[in-house]
Amino acid sequence: MTNTLKKRRAPKIPLMDLDAQYRAIQPEIDEAIQRVIKSSGFILGKEVEAFEHEFAAFVGSKHGVGVSSGTAALHLALLACGVRPGDEVITTPLTFIATAEAVRHAGALPVFVDVEQDSLCLDPSLIASAVTPRTKAILVVHLHGNPAAMDAILEAGGRYGLTVIEDAAQAHGAEYRGRRAGSLGAAGCFSFFPGKNLGAYGDAGAVVSNDRTITDTVGRLRDHGRRGKYEHEVEGFNHRMDAIQAAVLRVKLRHLEKWNRRRREIAARYRNGLRGVVACPQERRETVPAYHVFAVRTPRREELRAYLADQGVETGIHYPIPLHLQPALRFLKYEAGRFPAAEQAAQQLLSLPIHPDMTDEQVDRVIDRVRAFF
Ligand SMILES: *Cc1c(COP(=O)(O)O)cnc(C)c1O
Repeated sequence: MTNTLKKRRAPKIPLMDLDAQYRAIQPEIDEAIQRVIKSSGFILGKEVEAFEHEFAAFVGSKHGVGVSSGTAALHLALLACGVRPGDEVITTPLTFIATAEAVRHAGALPVFVDVEQDSLCLDPSLIASAVTPRTKAILVVHLHGNPAAMDAILEAGGRYGLTVIEDAAQAHGAEYRGRRAGSLGAAGCFSFFPGKNLGAYGDAGAVVSNDRTITDTVGRLRDHGRRGKYEHEVEGFNHRMDAIQAAVLRVKLRHLEKWNRRRREIAARYRNGLRGVVACPQERRETVPAYHVFAVRTPRREELRAYLADQGVETGIHYPIPLHLQPALRFLKYEAGRFPAAEQAAQQLLSLPIHPDMTDEQVDRVIDRVRAFF
């Protein structure tokens, strides 16, 4: 047990393990999928409606609309909130590209502001300097499942007359002052990409809101702007949710709180075991993070990553290139050095494995290997 050869032969620790999750809930999932196949109702319909109600209730919003992806959720929520070509939307450069793509899909321009060093979310103190007469909305991202500073962001939104929209694609079940991410702004956008805390078996997403006009608009836009079968009230899209995805999500939603609790336990175990060794994400008093990602921070990121890979521990980087430096967004003309907090985070963050099916032994092995490196 003590020699390194034995340790090397230990099974790999993956960043996530969707197969282990499936094995734990297989009968429920198989039954749900069979039910949809037998019903021959594959798109929208009763299964999707049931999921919309259950998911909105989970988030604590009045209404929910199922769509085809998180990107579609963002795109349609921006449109439903009145974002139009020529408008500007303030957002963070430290996120997945879909956040900015959705702004472009709506014809608007993303305007980046830097992140806070600790939360890695949009820094509310920088909003004022980014507001112009064309600013229409703030698109806030709860990065890694850690809620952004919503009080200050909503306050800034109110002061400048901007709609606050939440990209909660990594934050299913995360809480801010006792309210869940996605229920705090005008609209909350979720992704159910398979690896998310609540993941479908394919692409899917949702928009939640307390404002019925927003969800009604999203509901029309996702389905060709339909009113009746062949009456199209507005020009829309095909951004509908599949019934099989809804059925899978309904099963998984029943387990989500338990899974998120386990993620928090793992995060606490990491923080304990890595205290004094490497910088870990800290929880703000007003938040309960969902730990979609657990990212430690070190200037020796690449070295640590290679070492852990060699030790059978898979890691990730969320995200290595901030959006303002992405080739696809070069036309926005941001320069390197413009957002120092986001740029440094992009160079130093390393995501450790965190998923609800991880055992304490696996977590301890990761801790042990990280300690060994330092
Ligand atoms: C996953 C993700 C998205 C996009 O979701 P898709 O379902 O893949 O389209 C958007 N924003 C963030 C922050 C994400 O993590």
